Amino acid sequence: MATLVGASVLVLASGAAPAAAEGVGPAPVDGATGGGDPYFPAAGNGGYDVAHYDLDLSYTPQTRALTAHATIEARALQGLRSFSLDLRDLDVSAVRVDGAAAGFTHRGGELVVTPVAPLRKRARFVVDVDYGGTTGQPADPTGALYGWISFPDGAFTGNEPDGASTWYPVNDIPSDKAGYTFTVDVPDGTVAVGNGKLTDQKSAGGRTTYRWQADDPQASYLAMAATGNYVLTTDRGPHGLPIINAVDADVDRAAAQAVLAKQPAMIAFYEDRFGRYPFGSFGAVVDDNDEPGYALENQTRPIYAGVPDESTVAHELAHQWFGDKVTPRLWKDIWLNEGFATYAEWLWGESTGGPSPQQQFDQAYATPAGDELWSVLPGDPGPADMFATAVYQRGAMTLQVLRTTIGDDAFAKVLRQWAGRDRDRPVGTDDFRALAEQVSGKDLDALFRTWLYTPGKPAAPAPA
Ligand SMILES: [Zn+2]
Repeated sequence: MATLVGASVLVLASGAAPAAAEGVGPAPVDGATGGGDPYFPAAGNGGYDVAHYDLDLSYTPQTRALTAHATIEARALQGLRSFSLDLRDLDVSAVRVDGAAAGFTHRGGELVVTPVAPLRKRARFVVDVDYGGTTGQPADPTGALYGWISFPDGAFTGNEPDGASTWYPVNDIPSDKAGYTFTVDVPDGTVAVGNGKLTDQKSAGGRTTYRWQADDPQASYLAMAATGNYVLTTDRGPHGLPIINAVDADVDRAAAQAVLAKQPAMIAFYEDRFGRYPFGSFGAVVDDNDEPGYALENQTRPIYAGVPDESTVAHELAHQWFGDKVTPRLWKDIWLNEGFATYAEWLWGESTGGPSPQQQFDQAYATPAGDELWSVLPGDPGPADMFATAVYQRGAMTLQVLRTTIGDDAFAKVLRQWAGRDRDRPVGTDDFRALAEQVSGKDLDALFRTWLYTPGKPAAPAPA
């Protein structure tokens, strides 16, 4: 009876038509086919949130044939007549939603799925996609290899920023984190690696299947699958953290192991400054195919195209806090990843007898005024310059200026509190400035405006 009274009060108060019958909300819509990032408007989608990707991949390096099945668990954020997933260059043969065959169209990298009945707002649903094709060597708009990169002896992935869609159907925006399971089937002798922990491995009929489980929610640009001539080795980090390394048999394995052996000490060093390592495992993939020419901080398992040097390993490890755990909502804030990882590299370098961050700053500051370091804006570099030197170096210099402005103690507190933020709440530069202002009690607007958003070489900061 109380509910009836409540209902009549509601109708009187609204003065409008009686409340809609249960389950009939606003008319369902077609979910957006873009995720809202101005740098990559086609990446990502709207209207739902993914909880888990289960990717079942069968791959043969010799033919580059990929046969795959994705099971995606998601939740509707609005009533949906249709929704979209990002998937490029591969062919889709069937789509099911909650077990029922669904209609779909696939063009321009958008897989638009129409379930037999609209999805209600807040409904949990499961999408199954059968797909596959012959993989290639996709490149981003700057020409750098990314996504699923095929080589004669295997393949590895480097998704950042929007290359995940070259190998699985995905809501390809950093803010939609999800858990992952990778089941990768390869010819005997080839080893497959994913994020997280190896939970199963079995061989039959000349093929071996590896299952990797990544329970810590991760952004799609940090999902990884690598297949190659790897040797798996294990190590232990602080608190018994499992470390699983995959080193290509064709690289200088002694050199690789020598640098990877420093990972536990690096983790301990960063834990002292940034708080506990945020995930349930760590490790590295060192591949002999060095053509991509970069390393990428895939969550729990960075990948290196060739044997990395020590500062690169320190950089990718630091990203586990800065980027992987604390993740920018928009790509324009990429300096929150790269400036911080570069600064962390400086801290590690100093601890091993290298230059101090101030010396690193001084050296970079000596760069002539006409250099690109001063023309690219770290706080909004544009999609073509997301990985320009300025984003890394001038980004790290911004942190050093912050340090000299607010003092060592306040700076250390800011870094620790920033790294301690909730992994599921994407961030922007304004959030960082607000934290630094709150901790220091100083107005830092001019500092950030000058160092992140103003073209030209800034005046030398006043000595602390
Ligand atoms: Zn980086």
